[in-house]
Amino acid sequence: MVAKRSVVVVGAGITGAAISFFLAKSGHQVTVLEKDALGSAVSGASLACITPHMIDLSEIELLKWSCRAWLNLANDSRANFEYVRCGQLRFIERESEAAAAARHVEAERSLGINSSFVEAENIRCIEPNLTGPVAAATYDPDGATVNPFLAVRTLLLNAKSFGAAIRPHTPVEEIEIQNGCIVGVVSGSELIRCDCVVLASGPWTAQLAQLCNVNLPILPRKAQCLASVAVPPGTIRSVVSSCEASGGVEAGYTQIQQSSSGQILFNTVLAGGLSEPGAQNFVPEVDPVFVADSIAQLLRLFPCLENTQWLRSWVRYEAVAPDQRFLIGPLEADGLFVAAGDAGTGFIRAPAVGQLISDMLADKESTFRAEPYAPNRFENRR
Ligand SMILES: Cc1cc2nc3c(=O)[nH]c(=O)nc-3n(C[C@H](O)[C@H](O)[C@H](O)COP(=O)(O)OP(=O)(O)OC[C@H]3O[C@@H](n4cnc5c(N)ncnc54)[C@H](O)[C@@H]3O)c2cc1C
Repeated sequence: MVAKRSVVVVGAGITGAAISFFLAKSGHQVTVLEKDALGSAVSGASLACITPHMIDLSEIELLKWSCRAWLNLANDSRANFEYVRCGQLRFIERESEAAAAARHVEAERSLGINSSFVEAENIRCIEPNLTGPVAAATYDPDGATVNPFLAVRTLLLNAKSFGAAIRPHTPVEEIEIQNGCIVGVVSGSELIRCDCVVLASGPWTAQLAQLCNVNLPILPRKAQCLASVAVPPGTIRSVVSSCEASGGVEAGYTQIQQSSSGQILFNTVLAGGLSEPGAQNFVPEVDPVFVADSIAQLLRLFPCLENTQWLRSWVRYEAVAPDQRFLIGPLEADGLFVAAGDAGTGFIRAPAVGQLISDMLADKESTFRAEPYAPNRFENRR
């Protein structure tokens, strides 16, 4: 029989919400502490696409499991987080990159992903308004999106139905450790006692780990989004992204989609990547160059959007480790765990991260290989 533990999860983004759900469902006594409103950091501002397509092939088992878990959650009659199976189309701008993308798709198919390579002349069957100059594309019809706010809330409510306590506006300021074991966390004048603490605090995780003298190589990375007013449904049908795996659009990651409410959403991270430590504490204005470039890129790909009005834009920070993978697992103190380093794909991975942490607390064999995510993996490198 698995020992039931009292666990504090620090952070109520999608990672903390999924961990809380999996732990509470396994019978642990869970308390979620969130310094601000639930899902108010990067999670609530996400485009929340769920697909394993054109991501690191070595993570495929975890990604496939996670995508299935999302589908199962969506099929649960209590869930309502706008899961839409819209497909994902990854466009390729340069002819020279098509062969690499085709090879990646072949490898995906051999691993059980329903993806395909799409010649330029067939792209319009999938995305009729994508009339700009693209050389080819790859397509996963099973790609989906969820409403990010509703998804965070649904997972937290599910955790609550298994007895979890959810406490927004409760910042963790200290982590109490005695004789190498977790005793609890401090928020204001309150000591909240527990056996385990899971740091699911996104770009704030390194700062929190420092409280326990643990150095974690997690840095913030700026992600920006531009939103239009609502346009007719079906103007953009799928999630349209640049084809990173074959070195697509040079300005970094690009993602374009239409929300259920009709808005066109354009997301990218800045070229050059990481921000200064602590940048997440001072969310700046959106870069005006980003807005101009985004509009230009959108009009090049979707000329039909020419007369569309642009409504607003926002900035959030993702958490990134040097190899762009999550850090998931125990830290030095007994009972202290980390689950952070989303690298901009935290929605896809969240259920799998929840399952891994749940396996670890139960001392069970992992559902997936845990070594690639070991928090100490960088210490062994010379
Ligand atoms: C525009 C945009 C589009 C995106 N599109 C996608 C996509 O299509 N698919 C995808 O998978 N991902 C996407 N992402 C990335 C995705 O949103 C993130 O990977 C994910 O939300 C990370 O979740 P998290 O819970 O780890 O982090 P966060 O959402 O940052 O949650 C961490 C939480 O910890 C809290 N916290 C920090 N310190 C403390 C403390 N001391 N005490 C208590 N609480 C604390 C914070 O307030 C925060 O709420 C996108 C991101 C953006 C910005």
